[in-house]
Amino acid sequence: MIGFALNEDQVAAQKWVHEFAEKEIRPVASHYDETEEFPWPVIKKAAQIGLYGWDYYQMVGEDESGVLQPALVEELTWGCAGIALGILGTGLPLVALIASGTAEQIVRWTPEMFGTPDDPRVAAFAVTEPGAGSDVSSLRSRAVRDGDDWVLNGQKVFITNGGIAGVHIVVATVDPGLGHRGQASFIIPPGTPGLRQGKKEKKLGIRASHTAEVLLEDCRVPADCLLGGQERLDAKLARARDKKPSRASGALATFEATRPVVGAQAVGIARAAFEFAFEHAEGSMSKLKAGEVAVRVTDEAIQILGGYGYIRDFPVEKFHRDAKIYCLFEGTSEIQRLVISRANGGMA
Ligand SMILES: Cc1cc2nc3c(=O)[nH]c(=O)nc-3n(C[C@H](O)[C@H](O)[C@H](O)COP(=O)(O)OP(=O)(O)OC[C@H]3O[C@@H](n4cnc5c(N)ncnc54)[C@H](O)[C@@H]3O)c2cc1C
Repeated sequence: MIGFALNEDQVAAQKWVHEFAEKEIRPVASHYDETEEFPWPVIKKAAQIGLYGWDYYQMVGEDESGVLQPALVEELTWGCAGIALGILGTGLPLVALIASGTAEQIVRWTPEMFGTPDDPRVAAFAVTEPGAGSDVSSLRSRAVRDGDDWVLNGQKVFITNGGIAGVHIVVATVDPGLGHRGQASFIIPPGTPGLRQGKKEKKLGIRASHTAEVLLEDCRVPADCLLGGQERLDAKLARARDKKPSRASGALATFEATRPVVGAQAVGIARAAFEFAFEHAEGSMSKLKAGEVAVRVTDEAIQILGGYGYIRDFPVEKFHRDAKIYCLFEGTSEIQRLVISRANGGMA
């Protein structure tokens, strides 16, 4: 059984982040959405109270229950999803560094990723390319060993913090014949010649978050920027050439680790929208919505359990049967719609 209840300390941390979201994020959310500027001042405030930086990730990393980080992310995103991603975006390259880096690389590059509370920085994790989004195995960016260096060439698209980041972690192929098993990740230190920002995207949403192309043109990094080191890469390539099984690619392992946090961001937006709509709804609107959501969620719960969802040994079929009545009594859904449309048309 998965437990989502928060203990006393976790509730206090949740309240701390909620207050930050309410006081520092919500009031400026429209400004950053409108201007599409990167919210550096908010990131600085977050860094100054310990909500952005390595200390924050140590705090959530020490939480064995696993529920603290999603709970805090939900609060930040409740404030504004775009600004929250500005604060959280460095988490993705951080996880990539921790997932694949050596101990020395983690110690050396983590402080570079975040900067200091007075001079915060962000980092980026660049995987996606034109023609290689969902299908990570078809990346075309190349990394070629040249003496004591690696030289990278390629085009990355849709990169969060791309170009404004200090540290970029870039995934490239070192052996195109091996698909994802021929890929490696590279740390590109701040200011490295040959890495530059291309087009900055104008987006539908999360507009405070910076999304841009990253262009690699003979971008030369020292050999110790290969994430995990040469020995580990050689062993991985040898296993791939011998067609021996291996663990998931660094990129996929990174996304797998960060997906619950991304899920929590979606919950944060949903909650903000629900609270706002709830305050503005009339009785009929809230009842219509709640009844239909209950039916949809309980139907989905049956689907997730498959055949087990349909039999009475498990409670979800009962949840579904019970939910249906909320679309019927105290006015059916159709009657609620009638009442709402009359009210909207001034005929209430
Ligand atoms: C705002 C934003 C921020 C981003 N940040 C980053 C970042 O920091 N780093 C990074 O590397 N990338 C980032 N991305 C890229 C993002 O991860 C990709 O856009 C995503 O993986 C989808 O890839 P794609 O856009 O190439 O779409 P495609 O993979 O081409 O998908 C197009 C459609 O085809 C469907 N499809 C594709 N393959 C299959 C399949 N096998 N089965 C069924 N359906 C399929 C998809 O579901 C989708 O509906 C970001 C994107 C955006 C928009």
